[in-house]
Amino acid sequence: MPTLPVLILNSGSSSIKFSLYEAGAGERRKLYEGAVDGIGTDQGKFWIKDADGKKLVDQSPALPSRSVAFKLVADVLNSGDFLRPRAIGHRMVCAAPTLQNNLRVTPELIEEMERYKDLAPLHTPIGAYIMREALELFPGVPNFACSDSYFHRTMPQVATHMPIPSEYADMGVRRVGFHGISYESIVCQLQPDVPERLIVAHLGNGASISAIRNGRCIDTSMGLTPTGGIISGTRTGDVDPGLLLFILRKIAEAASSSKEAADQLEAVVNKRAGLLGVSGLSNDMRVLRAAVVAGNEKARLAVDKFTWMIVKSIGSYFAELGGLDMLVFTGGIGENDTATREEICAGLGALGIVLDPARNHARGMAVISAEDSPVTVRVIPPAEDLIIVNHVVRMLSEESGSLADLEQAESHVGELEAVAVTGCEIR
Ligand code: ADP
Repeated sequence: MPTLPVLILNSGSSSIKFSLYEAGAGERRKLYEGAVDGIGTDQGKFWIKDADGKKLVDQSPALPSRSVAFKLVADVLNSGDFLRPRAIGHRMVCAAPTLQNNLRVTPELIEEMERYKDLAPLHTPIGAYIMREALELFPGVPNFACSDSYFHRTMPQVATHMPIPSEYADMGVRRVGFHGISYESIVCQLQPDVPERLIVAHLGNGASISAIRNGRCIDTSMGLTPTGGIISGTRTGDVDPGLLLFILRKIAEAASSSKEAADQLEAVVNKRAGLLGVSGLSNDMRVLRAAVVAGNEKARLAVDKFTWMIVKSIGSYFAELGGLDMLVFTGGIGENDTATREEICAGLGALGIVLDPARNHARGMAVISAEDSPVTVRVIPPAEDLIIVNHVVRMLSEESGSLADLEQAESHVGELEAVAVTGCEIR
């Protein structure tokens, strides 16, 4: 059976991460992963390691721009020393109404992303840039975009519609949600025992929570933009809209143009707020936890606000779901920060959540709730790259008319439409 090498690209503000999978019928094997980090510095890092963790590339190049960084990756992957990708998958974070699906990357798609870049300024412009570069530096290789909102397409209208005048709603402005690829990967990993009433807390630098019934999203905390919802590392989360007007008027007093004022407000809500804004110290939970231990009161307030907001959200999703069978923590904080999990669960005793402290502190423990806890609490790392590989294989199969892989995917379907699209090959 032939296999298909699929490259997955995931870029942040100062890094480009990538991994290469070999996809066969029902098989997904990671061959290597790598990253270029420190973009914008003259002492960057560029590494690639194989599936056993052996370093194949380990360099400290100057990385003056994202373009230089990506060319480095493309040159190595095209050099013949590595299996050349035959398809490329991207995580697409974009609220454009026309891009709420998984799609083939074309120049038109990239232009559409750029038209909507202001709705996710930390993500969309970088994603669009990398897609354009990938089309150019891997000529002839098809690229596919996986929408980070696709999983949320099952939300009812009452959750997606925003309470605004219809002239704006008619522009397609609505709550779309993000982190959908992570949520889909959690549902897939829970197969075949996906609980009826599930809440997943994706707590990373960006943080969000979703309510999922029978594998389908019914509500999520982020809305039109990744700035909404619960507090994130540098983002406000949901705030009183009057606060935004207050800050905007303050900024406008000194700004030379309305664009400059809008840009400054954007920086306040996306880069200077959240855990960083409250603590005045850092957006990194590890730094904040160390500061709390050292008696830093602002760090304590930042961490407490984070927990408070999450407890409130989970409480409202409990009401929406009509109860709860399982709570899953994922993302860098959700997977690693025992104190955050403990504080959140302590606030949720009334919902039937009983944490087992020893399990919570044991490394790599899948279930961390007590034996007799009415609600099961689990820690599950996301497997976003695998979900993207699955979508790429499906789209490619549909395009080429070869249904071998699609049939393979559908043989795992069960009753869940939300997971049927991938076949849940995650191991
Ligand atoms: P991103 O949204 O950038 O993918 P991650 O999922 O990597 O973010 O999560 C980053 C967050 O996870 C940071 O706040 C970091 O401090 C936190 N984190 C990572 N490891 C730990 C750890 N061992 N203990 C506590 N927090 C951690």
